[in-house]
This record gives sequence, structure tokens and C-alpha cells, in this order.
Amino acid sequence: MRIVIIGSGFGGLNAAIEIRKKLTSPQHEIIVVADKAQFVFRPSLIWLPFHKHRLNKMTFPLRPTFEKAGITFIEKCVQALMPKQNHILCKDDEIIEYDYLIVATGASPDWARIEGLEGRSASIYGISTALQTRKKVKEIKEKDPIVIGVGQGNPNQGIAYEFLFELEAYLHEHRLECPLTFFTYEEELFNGKGKEPTERLERLLEKKQVTYYCNVSIERADDESIYLTNGKQLPHSFLFVLPPYKGVDCIFASTDLEHDHGILPVHDTLQSIQWKNIYVIGDANNMKGTKSGRAAELQGTLAAENIIKQIQQEPLQSFQEDTMYFMELGKAGAMLVMDKPVKEGVFQWAISGMMPHIMKRAFEKYYLLKFS
Ligand SMILES: Cc1cc2nc3c(=O)[nH]c(=O)nc-3n(C[C@H](O)[C@H](O)[C@H](O)COP(=O)(O)OP(=O)(O)OC[C@H]3O[C@@H](n4cnc5c(N)ncnc54)[C@H](O)[C@@H]3O)c2cc1C
Repeated sequence: MRIVIIGSGFGGLNAAIEIRKKLTSPQHEIIVVADKAQFVFRPSLIWLPFHKHRLNKMTFPLRPTFEKAGITFIEKCVQALMPKQNHILCKDDEIIEYDYLIVATGASPDWARIEGLEGRSASIYGISTALQTRKKVKEIKEKDPIVIGVGQGNPNQGIAYEFLFELEAYLHEHRLECPLTFFTYEEELFNGKGKEPTERLERLLEKKQVTYYCNVSIERADDESIYLTNGKQLPHSFLFVLPPYKGVDCIFASTDLEHDHGILPVHDTLQSIQWKNIYVIGDANNMKGTKSGRAAELQGTLAAENIIKQIQQEPLQSFQEDTMYFMELGKAGAMLVMDKPVKEGVFQWAISGMMPHIMKRAFEKYYLLKFS
């Protein structure tokens, strides 16, 4: 039996390791196909534009990790999924057959969905864009108006808050006074994770004299300004906006696969709504809640467990969101936000200060040690 996993980010890497741990027989072939042979610990990308981290401390080569675990790693770009034929087609026309497939291809920023945003906003979704943003940050001059925001529909809002606080700390350090404006489509700052994170962020924005607007969407952007649905026109010299997400190219190129902007619909068991032998995890699926590395990891574990249950003809388990999110706060350290389902309902908890910042750094080291 062959289980193929496309993608080796937080979701794909964990799914592959967990399946191998449970299916140890060589009769079970586990194959990971990914277009990059390097793992990037993406939460650390926030430090790259501000020279606060080195690339070699946040990445590792994947091939030795998979070899050690007894997993076949194929470095190839997948062109399309062919679910009717139970195979995937790679860009070099190689066909890889599977009995079960886990799609862990993540998502990409959908700039084109907001008029005028494409090419105007700085971004930190990958190493190259984070390094381009480093250059843009260096070009900021005294009094330049800076706008940072969360565009409608973006599912990982925390990145914009982190960028705001890290940039504010940078400006302070370089003695630059620039007007800072923040906006989000959320009803309140970092909505839905309890009162404590929202109130903490409100206090910080007021202290740092950041003008902010909640519950607003972007109408359009141009070279001079960004136009919000509350009638505000915000001039910008430096713009950092989180756009909505879309799926990766191979999803759009696939036939017989329903999707919404490339994002694949799943049951709460992570099984594709169309194909019983396909599971979709992490940023690539339409599960509600914040898209995060932790969610992708937990979903990787669940997909592994559910595939084994399916093989053994047992009932599948449902995914329950369980947030543990570290948000950098510049000079104020960081905030750790927890939002866990418990017997009595939901447990929400947050702490901030230097300790969560140290924990975020330590977590990265632990993760790299565990998998590299
Ligand atoms: C700046 C930043 C800060 C963040 N901070 C946090 C944080 O503090 N905490 C947190 O939990 N999360 C954080 N996240 C979110 C987290 O990184 C993502 O949610 C997570 O990476 C999603 O994991 P994934 O496995 O679903 O997808 P990805 O990590 O995007 O992995 C996708 C994989 O698919 C591969 N792939 C894509 N297309 C193809 C193809 N056609 N063929 C072959 N392979 C393909 C890619 O190479 C990659 O291996 C942050 C993200 C960013 C950008």
C-alpha cells in the first residue's frame, strides 16, 4: 500500500512522520513529494526584515530527516492531481500512483482579489519576500506615512500585528518618527480569542499612538493611498497588508476536484468531501479558524490517524481547533494566546511580556532539533 503526501511544511512533514511511526512495515510505502527540499520555520520570518535572525537558524534540509525516518522523499513540483486515476502528475510528466493521498500544499497570497494591492504591499510570506521587505524597511524616511492592515478574508491575522510592533520597535531604535495606521476586517483587535489579547493590543496601540480601525474592508489601493469601506483614505509611503489566501497552482490545474479559490473543502475528519482516499490538511483546506503552523501540525497527526482507521475500517475522528499562538510585540516582548476546547466549553488564556518571546525562540530551536 502506498501513501503519498504532497508538501513538506508543518502539515506534510508531521503527517509523514506520524504515519511512518504507526505503519512500520515496508509493505507500507510512504512518499513525500515537495517542490522544495528545505524546511522553513515560517513563524521566524517576522524577524528577517529587521535583521533579528539568521536564515541558517530557521531552516534545515529535509532529505536527511526523511531518510532517517524511512520515508521516500521526491523533490518535484506537482502539476496536477488526478483523483479519478488515483495518481498525481509531476511537472516533468512523471506519474506517481497512490492508495491514499494527503494534500499539504499550503496556500498562497491572493493579491489580485483586492483591487490595486498587487505589487504595492510589502510581504513576508517567504524568504525572498521577507528579504525584499528588509530593503523597503531600510528606505523608510522621517514622517513617511505607514499603513499596516489585515485585508478581508485573511485567515492568519497575527502576522500583521507582529509586523506592526516589530516595525514600531525598529523606527524607535532608528529615531524615525512616522505616522502609523493599522486596520483590520476583524470586529475587534485579534478577534475571537478572548478579551485579554484584544484589550492588551488596544492598550499597546494607544500607548504607541497608532491610529487604528476595526471592522473595515479595503475597497482599493493605488500608489498614493489605500481606500477603506469606512470612507477613510489612508496615504502610504510604506504599505504592509495581508491579502486573502488562494490554493497553489496544482489545485487549479486539477480536474475532478471542487475548490473555492484553490482551497479544498473537507469534512471535519479532514477527508476531502469528494474523494474518500484524499485528506487535505493545513492552509490548503477550508477548515474554519486561524490558519497556523500548529493547526497544520495537529491536522497532520489526525490525517495520519484517520488513514489508519480507514484502513482498519474504524470510525474516523473529527478535528478540534486548539490554538497556541505566539505573537511578537516588539519592545513589549510577545504574547502567548491559548484557545482550547475543554469539557466545560472553551479555555482561553493569554500572557504577555519577555517570557512568551523567549518561549517562541525556544520553540523554534526545539522544533528544528526534533526534525532536523
Ligand atoms: C510570517 C509568518 C508568521 C507566522 N507565524 C506563525 C506563528 O507564530 N504560529 C503559527 O502557528 N503559525 C504561524 N504562521 C503560519 C504558518 O507558517 C502556516 O500556517 C503553516 O506554514 C501552514 O502549513 P502547511 O503545511 O499547511 O503549508 P506550508 O507550510 O505552506 O507548506 C506547503 C508545502 O507544500 C509544498 N508545495 C506547494 N505546492 C507544491 C507543488 N505544486 N508541488 C510540490 N510541493 C508543493 C511547499 O514546498 C511546502 O513544502 C506564520 C506564517 C508566516 C508567513
